Parts: sequence; structure tokens; C-alpha cells
Amino acid sequence: MSKQKNRNDKKPAQSNHQSGKPNKKQGPAKGKPKGGNPKNSSPNARQGGPKATTAKVTCSRLTNEGKGLVEWEGKQLEVAHLLPGETAEVRVSKKGRFGDAELKRVLHQSEDRVEPPCPYYEQCGGCQLQHMSNQAQGQFKQNTVDALMKPFGKPEPILTMDHPYDYRNKSQMAIGRNKDRQVIGGLYAQNTHQIIPMDRCLIHDPKADEIVQTIKGMMKSFKMQPYNEDTGQGFLRHVLIKVGQTSGEIMVVLVAASPIFKGKNNFITALRKAHPEITTLLLNINKRNTSAVLGDQEKVLFGKGTITDTLGGMTFEISAKSFYQINPAQTEKLYTKAIEMANLTGKETVVDAYSGIGTISLIASQKAGSVMGVELNQDAVRDAIRNSKRNGVKNARFYQGDAGEFMVQMASRGEKADVVLMDPPRSGSDEAFLSSIAKLKPKRVVYVSCNPETQARDLKYLTKHGYAVEAIQPVDMFPQTYHVEAVAKLVRKEKAGKR
Ligand code: SAH
Repeated sequence: MSKQKNRNDKKPAQSNHQSGKPNKKQGPAKGKPKGGNPKNSSPNARQGGPKATTAKVTCSRLTNEGKGLVEWEGKQLEVAHLLPGETAEVRVSKKGRFGDAELKRVLHQSEDRVEPPCPYYEQCGGCQLQHMSNQAQGQFKQNTVDALMKPFGKPEPILTMDHPYDYRNKSQMAIGRNKDRQVIGGLYAQNTHQIIPMDRCLIHDPKADEIVQTIKGMMKSFKMQPYNEDTGQGFLRHVLIKVGQTSGEIMVVLVAASPIFKGKNNFITALRKAHPEITTLLLNINKRNTSAVLGDQEKVLFGKGTITDTLGGMTFEISAKSFYQINPAQTEKLYTKAIEMANLTGKETVVDAYSGIGTISLIASQKAGSVMGVELNQDAVRDAIRNSKRNGVKNARFYQGDAGEFMVQMASRGEKADVVLMDPPRSGSDEAFLSSIAKLKPKRVVYVSCNPETQARDLKYLTKHGYAVEAIQPVDMFPQTYHVEAVAKLVRKEKAGKR
């Protein structure tokens, strides 16, 4: 996964890759099947070396990561960008960047194949499904969730996005130089620190990429040096941008290797003039030789240092480091579903575990008696408390700590909860947490997850310990990638029929 992940970034962070602007010239050469990738000329193909073999294969199905599964010489191989039913020539090599075999040429194409609109799709790897039609992507994710959830019932039809691009409200572009010493900005090629120069990633909010373009252009006139990872020289490492898609507020974070910002005032004036829509600018200092984007030190250069956004009728303040869902339009659908599944009547005691900046807690608080949010990350807890004040919420409390331990303590003190809402990181929950649910016996558990594999594992535990799965709703929060979100409603099987 992304080398650029924040510690508390539970969601599939963009794996430093891209999608770029539609490039009409990109189509396949005449005579080649559409979607056939001229891979033989790519550095990837060369990596295969003389030992690599070309094989003709047919794809039987997709893996959960969206790769095509093929059989070759009694072995199962995974081929990125190959679709079920397609026949293709692949290069079989252990060194392939995308797994066991690399796609060379599609000989027979699936109806689900479309031309990936991004010109960097082959190099990047941040998106895995751009070669699939929107409808096929939805079906793939539905099938993934259906298969994993089979023991628990049939999931609802997935909630997809009408316009499945431009959605990421958070973007981070690495800054460097190319061989000709020109300043470049872009995402890293998968599993490398090699910047793919790009002016546009198609899943980013377009405004963010526009601002990065301006900054790259300004660097020359302001003699601002890009950072060089090899020599440790230079200044600017990354540009991180967060866009409040409902508020219109924009945060720009210049991540630099040093706090000494030459020509700072003029730079700020020029940037604000070019983009009056920027509401706050920060300088983050990252001196470490690390793949983490942000360092600990932060300085506000203008504005409040945070942006706000509105979700579920509430306003949330978001700082540079705290986790906030990266696709707010789909988050709105997800949260609406989760709150609906909680069946709140205004009286319930609710636990919101893994509560982040308090989004689910505060939305739920409007319909509950009281809410306790528990979250490990201290900054996020601070944001949650601030957000609760900001929205005039009086019935929510936030606790910093491990969700499992918190629940164990609640159970040992004999406290009670009517509803548990949970939204753990990709690794899912743990036995301490799940066994405490079995002891606390809430009437309902609503489990939000960005990884249906660990969710299915945890649902298995809960269904063995007194709960029945009543509904499962998949939501496509991360179009063009294989990731899928799902929310499950569990009810306590106390007395038959009583929920
Ligand atoms: N519900 C929030 C945040 C979900 S992200 C939202 O929708 O925005 C998952 C959160 O779990 C992150 O904020 C992360 O910091 C937190 N977390 C990770 N491990 C944890 C643990 N063991 N106990 C409590 N919180 C944890």
C-alpha cells in the first residue's frame, strides 16, 4: 500500500500512483486489439530478461485485487489488467512488477474492457480497474463482497458513483527533478520512489492538481529547489492538498526538508494571487529519510491551519494530519446507511469505536441518548472534541485509547451499550474487542469496513457469539481501485423475534 500513508489513514491511501489526463493519442496502434498493451517496449518487459517466457493464456476470473487469474503449466498466475474471458499473450517472469505474469497483448477482448483514460495507468498501479467499464467495476466489487459474505446472507446492490473520477479530496504529489533537471511533480511508480511526472491524476480533485501545477511553475522564478532524496539537498519534497468539497475551503501543505523558506512572503503573495481559493497554507518540515510524507513540525503560513467540511449536516474541522474519508460524496451514502442500520430512537447508549475525528459519533448523537467515541490517535480525539463543541453536541464523549481495551473495561465494569458502531482499520478488529461485544450484549452492532476480508472474519466470530447478520451494504468509495467498503448490520439473537 501507499508509502505516503498517514499513520491513521485507514482507507486505501492512494498508492502514489495516478491517473492522468485523457490523452487521445494514447489509443492502441492500428491493427492491435484495443487494450493490447505495448508492454514489450516497457522497462518492465526488459526486466523479464532472457529467462522470461511468452505464454498464451485465458483468464477464468478476477482475484480480489482485480487481477486476472490464468492457468499455465498447472500453475495459477495473476495478470494485472486482464479480464475474465479474455485470451492474451503474457510474459511469465517472477520479476514482473504486477505479480506473476505481465500482460503483453490481448488477443480476444472482453466486452467489459474500456480504454483506460489515464496515460500513466501502466506505470502507476494506484488504480487497478481503469480498463474496466464502470458497470463491470461495480459488478466486480459486488461479486467480491457477495462471495466473502456468502455465509451471512445476500448483500444489497452496491452503491456506485455516477462520476467515478475527480473524487479524492486529499492528494499528495512528490516533487523532484527529471534527467534534464527540470522540476517535476507526480506520484511514485508503484513500490518505488521514482516520480512519474504528471499534471493530472484523474481521481484527484482537479483543483488540487491545478494548484500543484502553479507551484511547480513558481518554483523556477522563486529559485525554490526540489528536494533530492539521494543527496539530501534541496527544499520542497511534497505538496499535500486537502479540499473541503462542500465548504470549498482548500488547505495546501508544502512539505519541505528545512524550515528556512527563502522568499517566503513573496511566494505566499504570488500563490494567493494565482489561487485566491486557497484558504490556508502550511509548511510541514520533514527532515527524515523516510517514506512518510509528513514530518512532525508544522507551521501555519496563513489562514487557520485547518479546513472544514460538511457531512451529514454537521461541520468538521480537519487538520493536516488527521484522518478524513477521502470520498465525501460516497461517505455521505455510507454513513446514512450505517445510521439507518443503527435504528436509533433518541434513547440509546451508543459506542462509536475507531471514531477518528468523530464523524460517525456526532452524526449519530443527533438520534441517540448518548455516544461514547473511542479512538487511538490523540490528534483525532482532539479534533473530535473540537468538532463536538463546534456543532453544539452535548451528548457525545470521546476517549483516547485502544478500542479493544476500552470495551474490555466497559464489560468488566458492567456498563451497558445498546448499539455499537465500529469502523476499524483495514486489519479489522481484535478478539479483545469482539469478545467484549459478546459480554456487553448490545442489541445491534453496525460494522463499517474498508476491507471485507477482515470484516468477514470478524462477522464469523460475532455470528458464533450471539449475533445474526441482518443486512450488508457494499459502497464503492474508491472507484478505479479494487478497494470496496461495506457496512453490516448485526442483531442480538436474544429471544426469537425480539430485536
Ligand atoms: N470512523 C472514522 C475513522 C475511521 S478510520 C471515520 O469514518 O472517519 C479508523 C480509525 O481507527 C483511525 O482513526 C485510527 O486512528 C483508529 N484506530 C486504529 N487502531 C485503533 C485501535 N486499536 N483502537 C482505537 N482506534 C484505532
